[in-house]
Amino acid sequence: MFVSVLDLFKVGIGPSSSHTMGPMVAANAFLNDARHFVDSNPDTDNYHVRCTLKDSLAYTGVGHATDRAVVLGLHGYLPDTIIDENMDEVIDRTWNSKTITISDSIEASFFSEDDIIFDTRNSLKQHPNGIVFELLNSSGGLLHSNTYFSIGGGFISTLAEIDNIEAPIAAEPSSAYPFPFDNSEEMLEMSKKHNKTIWEMKLANELENLPEEILNLELDKIWNAMKTCIERGLTTEGILPGGLNTKRRAKKLHENLENDLENTSTNDWLCAYAMAVNEENAAGHMVVTAPTNGAAGVVPATLYYYYKHKAATIDQIRQFLLSASAIGSLIKTNSSISGAEVGCQGEVGSASSMAAAGLCAARGGTSEQIENAAEMALEHHIGMTCDPVKGLVQVPCIERNGFGAVKAYTASSLSLRESGEHLISLDQCIDAMKRTGLDMSHKYKETSLGGLAVSFIEC
Ligand code: SF4
Repeated sequence: MFVSVLDLFKVGIGPSSSHTMGPMVAANAFLNDARHFVDSNPDTDNYHVRCTLKDSLAYTGVGHATDRAVVLGLHGYLPDTIIDENMDEVIDRTWNSKTITISDSIEASFFSEDDIIFDTRNSLKQHPNGIVFELLNSSGGLLHSNTYFSIGGGFISTLAEIDNIEAPIAAEPSSAYPFPFDNSEEMLEMSKKHNKTIWEMKLANELENLPEEILNLELDKIWNAMKTCIERGLTTEGILPGGLNTKRRAKKLHENLENDLENTSTNDWLCAYAMAVNEENAAGHMVVTAPTNGAAGVVPATLYYYYKHKAATIDQIRQFLLSASAIGSLIKTNSSISGAEVGCQGEVGSASSMAAAGLCAARGGTSEQIENAAEMALEHHIGMTCDPVKGLVQVPCIERNGFGAVKAYTASSLSLRESGEHLISLDQCIDAMKRTGLDMSHKYKETSLGGLAVSFIEC
């Protein structure tokens, strides 16, 4: 399947792509759906809207601000239309408004406190992140309903779509593109046969949809948003929202490094940059999904390190993003990037694999070395669970992104010193990640019912 670099890297808001951005997109889709319904059924006088969050969204929805995201989506907002707004003001206004505007002349009542139901008992068999929206009449009778699934990375799927696809993705068949690789074996074969790098093949595929000038502008926008996010995180202090009293640490850590340059290591800088992003994410601010919000620090931190400390050029930055997205696309096609589906190996593991490939490509690695770097980084995340404390994307998520960046950097360096020959292929590793995710207990897939989430005892 073809997944665009511009879909894998999207500017949006924190703290979670599957639990914040996806539900906002779903609520916005239902608003449009409800508009079509009332346009063709104009008789009912009073409308009411209700939303039911299922399973993982119900367990960790409050900590991930899913309820606020639903309210924003029902008021017409989307992740990329809200980033320049005063978030606190918009959330306050929409949360308390009691009505949503379906069309110019039609409103529906909607009470944020009462009309969002957290249903932990009845999960939908298709996916752990189900959301059911209902349009009701004045006596509570059901007029219209639609079910959506937030499938990771801010992508959503409808009931009709998800029933037909085993591993649902918002993507097109790759056969329509000049380099239709769906796995790493095909990718390496095509690279060899056509004497093209991975980023050159990904670029050719992207140019089927956009002229190069526009694509470059969009890639530069993504890079600038990543840079802005890191720099905001490095200059902001305070306590993160959610009730865990998590202190922001990136600013102090960065100052500490700047004042002690002789004793710093690459790992220190990578951690500071990644934590800066994930603190911004936990604060509900602007981030770039890479490929998700929870894992949004790994790719930017690795790229920012290369830019800041190794003077990466804009061409290398674009090559990094294209190569990373080629790997992200393979993972999304053949496994998952969603913590609710396969645990954190799908989020931070995928991000680390993408960053390793991107850095290896920007440093001039061969296609075999890039595939090796991606495999190594993913391999050393296999089995990693998702167990965020209090359902917040803070602990272990913020530090974990630093560790993901460290592994990405290490995998890239190691692969560049070797030939690219290795035992387990990236395809086999992605398959192992998928099977491990299927075997993983429900408790470790973004439900906060196991692991660190239950080790933490609130005083
Ligand atoms: S533990 Fe990993 S998958 Fe789970 S919320 Fe945190 S970053 Fe996302």
